[in-house]
This record gives sequence, C-alpha cells and structure tokens, in this order.
Amino acid sequence: MSPSAEPLVAVIQALSRARTLAEVQEIVRHAARALTGADGATFVQRDGDQCFYVDEDAVAPLWKGKRFPMNACISGWSMLNGKVAVIEDIYADARVPAEAYRPTFVKSLAMVPIRPSAPMGAIGNYWAQRHLPTESELNLLQALADSTSTAMENVALYAELEARVKDRTDALAMAKRSLDERETAKKELEQTEHQLRQSQKMEAVGQLAGGIAHDFNNALTVILSFSSLAAGHLKVGDPLRDDLNEIRKAGERAAALTQQLLAFSRKQMMNPKVLELGKVIRGMENMLRRLIGEDISLVVVTPPQVAAVFADIGQLEQVLMNLALNARDAMPQGGKLTIETADVRFDGEYAGTHLGVDAGDYVMLAVSDTGSGMDKETQLRIFEPFFTTKAKGKGTGLGLSTVYGIVKQSNGHIWVYSELGKGTTFKVYLPRRAGTLAMTESKPLEVRRLSGTETILLVEDDEQVRAVAKGILKANGYNVLVARNGGEALLTCEQFPKPIHLLLTDVVMPQMSGVQLAKRLAGLRPDMKVLCMSGYTDEAVLRHGVVDSGLAFVQKPLTPEGLLLKVRQVLERG
Ligand code: ADP
Ligand code: MG
Repeated sequence: MSPSAEPLVAVIQALSRARTLAEVQEIVRHAARALTGADGATFVQRDGDQCFYVDEDAVAPLWKGKRFPMNACISGWSMLNGKVAVIEDIYADARVPAEAYRPTFVKSLAMVPIRPSAPMGAIGNYWAQRHLPTESELNLLQALADSTSTAMENVALYAELEARVKDRTDALAMAKRSLDERETAKKELEQTEHQLRQSQKMEAVGQLAGGIAHDFNNALTVILSFSSLAAGHLKVGDPLRDDLNEIRKAGERAAALTQQLLAFSRKQMMNPKVLELGKVIRGMENMLRRLIGEDISLVVVTPPQVAAVFADIGQLEQVLMNLALNARDAMPQGGKLTIETADVRFDGEYAGTHLGVDAGDYVMLAVSDTGSGMDKETQLRIFEPFFTTKAKGKGTGLGLSTVYGIVKQSNGHIWVYSELGKGTTFKVYLPRRAGTLAMTESKPLEVRRLSGTETILLVEDDEQVRAVAKGILKANGYNVLVARNGGEALLTCEQFPKPIHLLLTDVVMPQMSGVQLAKRLAGLRPDMKVLCMSGYTDEAVLRHGVVDSGLAFVQKPLTPEGLLLKVRQVLERG
C-alpha cells in the first residue's frame, strides 16, 4: 500500500457507512481537498440536464443554489464526456468564463467526473496559485470518484430498500389494524349475539313463569281461604286444626314463591314512586347488618347528591335483600360487603355495544362482595329461575331471577362482574328520574272490625275464586251480588234497586278489564267504591291500570283476613 493511498482507505470506509447523499457529499468534499492538498474543493451534483454546486467553499458561495445547464459549464462537460478537465490558468483558458471566477481565489482547477455508467456528479479541486495537478493527484481524485460513485449507488439502493421496508411495514401495520378491527367487530357481534340469546331465554322463561304464577294464585286463593275458613269452623283443640294449619302454611310458602316468579316475569304489581335510592339503602342498613352477621363488614357509600329514581320501594328492598343474601352466602369466612350508589351516563357507544341499553342518565346501585366469585359458566345462568349452586334446602335459585325481573320492570339493567376467588359485583342501573321525591307513605286506615253489612258486587271470572270470595264476604255479614264478567256486572248495576257500596273486581278478565268496568260504572253509581284484585299485572294493566287510576288493590292469592281488611279499609275511606 503506497503511503498516499492510506488516507483514501479511511475515506472509502467512511463512504461505505454513509446512508444519505448529503453525507457522501460532505465526506467527498473534505477528502478531495485533504488528499491533494488543494486550496478548495467542491462537489457538483447532477440533476437531470442541470447541475449545481453543493459545497460552501470559497468557490461555491457565488454559485450556491444556482443551477447550470450541463452543457454550459466545465463540470457538466467533464461529466458528459467522462473526462477529467484540467485548467491550469483560469484566465488563459477559453473553456471557462474567466469573469465568473474573478471574485474568487481560483487560479487553477481540476474537475473529475463521477460516472460509473452515466454522469452522477463531479469532484472539483481548486488552487489559488497556478498549479498543474500531478498524475498521482489525479489518480487519487479518480479513485475517490470511483468510490463516490459506489457510495452514491449504495445510498440510492439503501433508500430504495428503506422505502420498500417502510412499504412492507406500512402494509403489515395496515393488515394488522384491519385484523384487529375485524377481531373487535367479531367480538362485539358475539357479545351482542350472546346478549340476544340470553335475553330471549329470559323472556321465554319469564312468560312461562308468569303464566304458571297467574294460575297458581287462583288455586292458592282456594287453598288458603278454605283451609282458613274450615279451621274457623272447628273447635279449639280439634286435631284437624293442626292439619289445616299445615295446609295453610304450605299454601303461604307457595304464595311467596309465586310472588317471586311474578317478580321475575315482571308481572308483579308495582307502585313506583320518585325515590332517593340512598335513603332506601340507609333505611335497610341495620336490618342488613343483622342479616349478614358479624364476620362481614358492611360499607355503605351513598352520596347525597345522587339523583332520584322512579321505582317501587318494596321491590328495591327485595333487590337489595337478595343481593346481600347472596353476598353473605359467598363469604362464609367473612369479608366485606359494599353497597354504593352513583350517577352514571351511558353514551351512544356504550348503548351500541350493550343490547337493549338506551343512552342516557342512570343511577347505579353496586353491590360488591369479597367472596368466592363465580366462573363464566355460572355467570351465564345465574338469572335463570331455579338455577342454584347451593345445597338442597339452602338455595331456591329464585333470588337473582327476582332481582332481574324487578330491574327490567323498572326499565333498568343489571350486569355482573365476578372473578373466582376474588369476589363479585352486581351493578344495577335504573333510569334517573327528575321530580319531587315521594311524600312519606300515608298509613293505611286502621280498621277495628272485619265484618260489615254493606252490599258488594263481586266480579270474577274464575269460578272457584268467585265462590271463595263470596263465601268469605257472606260469612262476615256482607250482602254479595256476583257477576262472572263485566257485562253481567253492568246489568246487575242497572237492575239492582238499592245502593251498591263496593265493586270488588278482578283486574284481568276477558272482554272487559276490571279497570274499564270501574270507569263505566263510575257514571252509573258515583258513590260506589272500587277494590281491584289481581295476582298479576302486565304492562297493559300497569299503563292504563290500577296504579294510575288510583284504585285500591288487593293482591292475590286472597286470604280471608287480607280480603276482609282491605274491603273494610276501602268502605270506611271518606
Ligand atoms: P340462590 O341464592 O337461591 O342459589 P340466586 O338466584 O340468588 O339463587 O343465585 C343463583 C346462583 O348465583 C347462586 O346459587 C350462586 O351460585 C350464584 N351467585 C349469586 N350471587 C353470588 C355472589 N355474590 N357470589 C358468588 N356467587 C353468587
Ligand atoms: Mg339467593
């Protein structure tokens, strides 16, 4: 290796590491000057049929930014011809415009083309004194030009590779994004499908339960009433009394179950009011504490500013009770039960991914425990009536179905979040309701006797219930007129010559509902009081029904005491 080639090796190495054209130009400019010991050097870059000077040396400031046609400057000539141009005296050579160099120091120059196959640029060397470049200087410049062309090709190649890699990466990222999007869409679809299946299942089971409960109530009316009436005919101490008592108790248990089924099927009679949820919870706090025992701590968080809801207070208590009982059962070793309320808002996006949820303002009731939690399979079934994981006699599987029915009946939503071994949170969302809070309940009228002598028009389509009710009323002194439907009742009202004090009517009857009947009779007999009875109400009854009309109501199954009490209350009301 000749001594003069050594710096060139370093330059070539530097060039091989260059990644951009600007880097190459910079390296070459410095190297050209250093290799030959010239007073200045420049890099001329070709750009189509033009070229321009990129360096900041003494020569270029004049020409920086300017573009020259390739065929009108010495560097262009050198590039196009692939020849080194040596100009020993700028001012004596016709190939260069001497005037253009006058403001510069330049006396002599050498221009070496960078031209692997096509012109790419040129390297210029300038001397302040007249100088004829030696052969070894020109060789060095030529070697530099060769390495530069390689470096420029590499840079171009590198840029192309980089662009291709970027394209690939972009394409990959795009593909991944669309995969992700598809995955999310799929998940959302699956979730919606699942919710739909779930709600259809609940709907079907609900209809079934509601239907059974309705017929059960009539049967239970007969069982409860006759057992109680029969017991009344027996002497104290008669062993049959105990038997009848057992029958009545079983009937009462069945009636309680029926109530839960009705709640689940959303056909429970409800009496909604504008309520402050936190107040309902605080009212139950002591009872709940006793219920869950000492090993479980109860934390109640009910900020006073939380909005009101429109719901039935008895139903809300049922919801809380059932959730608290389940939480207790899930924490046999003790733990923490937290009950919270908060205002929440569901935006359109949330509503879009949650079936049946309307965007809007809600009040949340969250009941959390630190208990056993549930696996996914269990979570899927918990709202089904009669689904229980508890031992025989411990669970009925009706707690959460009741809760579900009540929440739905109140136009709310319920979700469960649970992790095995960690605990469970139930979140109930009820629509927020503006308006004045309900007044404290007016106490039902106190009644001292259960019998009376007034005339009562009994309208009931179920033959057995009709017989029972008539029996109870007659046995207690009342004069009872009976009708099997609204038509018969109208006829009786027109024809009966004396006052009728009370209309006691079933609500759900074919052709004419009890409420419609009461309305039609209001004109005919304005003084007649009305008492509705039903074990059952559906949306229709609720909407144009008992609750709105302000009519008094007695819940089926009827018991003699319950019926007589209600009848007296209504009769004695002013
Ligand atoms: P029951 O309490 O009679 O079993 P529910 O309808 O109240 O019926 O509950 C159904 C099932 O849901 C329970 O048997 C239990 O497996 C599960 N479950 C309900 N609440 C919780 C809870 N807080 N933690 C763990 N499991 C629960
Ligand atoms: Mg339960």
